[in-house]
Formats: sequence, structure tokens, C-alpha cells
Amino acid sequence: MKIATTIDGRLLVSVDGRVAGDATAALGLTGERDPLVTLLDRGDGGAPLAALDLAALPRVDLADVALAAPLRPRTVVGAPVNYRDHQVEMHEQLTVAQLGVFLKARSSVIGPGGTVELPYTDMRTDHEGELTVVLGRPARHLSPEQAMDAVLGYTCGLDITVRSTEDRSTRKSFATFTPLGPWVVTADEVGDPGALDLRLWVGDELRQHASTADLILGVAELVSYASHVMALEPGDVILTGTPAGVGPIHDGDRVAVEISRVGRLEVEVSAAHAIDYDHRPGVWHRGLTGTTTTNGPTP
Ligand code: MN
Repeated sequence: MKIATTIDGRLLVSVDGRVAGDATAALGLTGERDPLVTLLDRGDGGAPLAALDLAALPRVDLADVALAAPLRPRTVVGAPVNYRDHQVEMHEQLTVAQLGVFLKARSSVIGPGGTVELPYTDMRTDHEGELTVVLGRPARHLSPEQAMDAVLGYTCGLDITVRSTEDRSTRKSFATFTPLGPWVVTADEVGDPGALDLRLWVGDELRQHASTADLILGVAELVSYASHVMALEPGDVILTGTPAGVGPIHDGDRVAVEISRVGRLEVEVSAAHAIDYDHRPGVWHRGLTGTTTTNGPTP
């Protein structure tokens, strides 16, 4: 099953191609801003979704609705350096095994068709296409063998990243820096998350192409590890890391990430609000600048 959310709080489930069923009323939802998390918080792992009578749902043509991010996670977890080829391109000595996981601000999440806003005119900002895990149940102290029971499904994600020297939680948390969507595809429909083809384009140029078979920590290990650190909640997401081919995005670019059996997410890029790095508010006001930094590798 594919699950999407509209900007006016309706929960849609796939029926056939471009046609979806509006499951909002059937699930007892009433236009909440985040209907999927509301549903998952009832504590049954989204089981009512599987019990829906799809034929009885009001039909919606997807061309007629605006989709939001499929959900608004309370915690957004990222995995640094989780593909060997990305480790090589970044000249990074460490991997996720030594670096652990990081957090992105939940306010960085945007939906399909949204616009990534570049913060700086003169500091490189990169695309990172990533398979993104969506949890359906609380996850704490799970073994890899237990971890998949907590996974609701998967969506396409972008971990947009400024290549400055600042902490990851700064460089990756700018508003609009975590596009997700367009759907959450349930785990039963995706099958083995370690056998998916991931591609990312900027315009017509293919920049990233990899298999999730090359993840250093696969989905089960990554969920297990993150649950050893954090008490994860239903609807939380884990971006699993990006393969080689990361590169800069610019004003006017269109970025698309496509993952087999999961979907295709497209966003636009704007520099309309970009400022000079040296004029970062607060830092600049103290007479401090960032000109000694480089655009060197900081994965
Ligand atoms: Mn990343």
C-alpha cells in the first residue's frame, strides 16, 4: 500500500495508478495536520490501513490534489557515511560505525514539489538522495532481528547538506533541507530494502546511481543501532545515507530522486533568500566571519 497526505490533512491510499482512495473518514481522522502520525499514535502499527475496504473509499484523482510530506516525524535521524563509495569520494576515514547517527530538525521536512531554499550564495550546498525508513511502532533496544517489525515502510528522501565546517545538525537542518515523499510505501510492498535501485538527477543529469545492497549498515542494523541510542516513536524516520555522486545544487535546479518500488520525489531549488556566508546573523554581528573555512569534504 502507498500512503500519502494532502496539504489539507487528508490521508490517501493507493488504489490504482493515478487514482487514490481518501481514507480520512474511514480511519476516523478529521483533517489533522499530520493524519498518518495521528493514526500511528493509536498504537497498532497502522493495522487499520491494511483492514481498509479500498473499494468503498471516495476516489481522488492525484492530479487534483496537492501532496504534503507523507508525515511530519518527531525525530529525523540521519546516517553519515553509510556507503563505501561515498566514504571514498569524501576522503573520509570513518563510517557510520564510528560516527554514529545524527539528528536533523523536524522543521526541515518538506513535501513533494516543494522548494529547497539555499541558505548561502557562496557556500556549497549538496543533494544527497537517500532511502528513508518510516517507523510504524515505537523502537527501543531492538535487535536487528526485531527491527523490521517496527518498520511501517519506506519513502524517498533528500538529505540536503551545506559543505561548511559546522556541525551536521546545523549544516543539514535548514528549513526545507529534508524533502520526503511522495508516498510511504508499506514494507510488504517494497520487499527487501537491501535490493533497491536508487537514482538521483539534477535536471537531466544523472548524478547518483547505486543499489541499497551497498549500504554499510542495512535497514535492520540501522534501525537496531538508532533504537539503542534513542527512544524512537511511531512516524519517526531514518535517512539511511547517500551513495557516491553528491554534488552542488543551484538556484532554479530541479532535483529528482527515484527508488525502485518506492517512488520518485521531485523538488525545486531556490536561492531567493540566500545570503553571504560571512554575513550569517549573530556570527557576523559579533565581528566573526567564516572566510577561513573551505568547501572541503565534510560528509
Ligand atoms: Mn546524508
